[in-house]
Amino acid sequence: MFSEDLLAGEVAVVTGASRGLGEAIAHRLAEVGADVVLTARSAERLEAVAESVGSGTGATAVAVPGDVREMEDVSRVVDRATELGDGAVDVLVANAGANFHSPIAEISENGWGTIVDINLHGTFRYCHALADALTAADGGRVVTMSSVVGRDGAAESAHYAASKSGIEALTRSLASEWAERNVRGNCVRPGLVATPGVEENRGVTAERIDRSDVDRTLGHPDEIADLVTFLVSPGASYVTGQTYTAEGVPEGAD
Ligand code: NAD
Repeated sequence: MFSEDLLAGEVAVVTGASRGLGEAIAHRLAEVGADVVLTARSAERLEAVAESVGSGTGATAVAVPGDVREMEDVSRVVDRATELGDGAVDVLVANAGANFHSPIAEISENGWGTIVDINLHGTFRYCHALADALTAADGGRVVTMSSVVGRDGAAESAHYAASKSGIEALTRSLASEWAERNVRGNCVRPGLVATPGVEENRGVTAERIDRSDVDRTLGHPDEIADLVTFLVSPGASYVTGQTYTAEGVPEGAD
């Protein structure tokens, strides 16, 4: 679908790359020529994914384990990426995220803070830490990860919904502020996509996807990776500050 030299010579950072959407995005960006720095918490799993991304594509794929809540870890990832890009980082995909389900009355302040810290503050930390490197890239791009829950809200997910709404607002603000740095910023807002996280939370797997069903409401990680790839491609050069929903046919549509 995309040419294999679309991002040749570019460096991309993908957070939450040890599985699910981040893994698919790292693969897709490497397939179109980018060298990729992958980060997530689990070192072992991350190494295996980086190995597969590198060997499957010929791109350089580097695993730098770290927690998006720890500024020291963020700095290590940024240092490795700027080293790879000679001071410039072309693409940031701030994808790492987490959720648990709980009614508002039962969410502890610690639980609320953890989800906001990972999703919203984690996204901020990476944007902040890569600001200069993205500017040095002469056309840097940021893609952040929201959710339809950030648009609609959802019972037992107020903490997650609030963090995702915040990411959308952060992205719009970044886009208008960083236009003068020649950095574009857009946000992807997936509906339900079959990833390990969704399988753990809801028991839904990719085998359930019937691609002949136009009403399908379960996506494949590659379909989110394709949207991210488009947004960081020259094809989206006039697109910034937007949030793109990918949820199949919205509930209620006919
Ligand atoms: P997943 O649980 O399968 O994977 C999450 C990734 O984020 C993992 O690599 C994990 O290690 C990483 N991560 C979590 N907490 C971290 C932390 N503190 N520090 C560093 N890395 C951390 O999730 P997924 O389904 O692939 O979702 C990826 C992103 O897409 C998330 O932001 C999620 O909110 C969003 N999203 C997913 C869906 C879906 O249906 N799968 C829908 C809407 C939005």
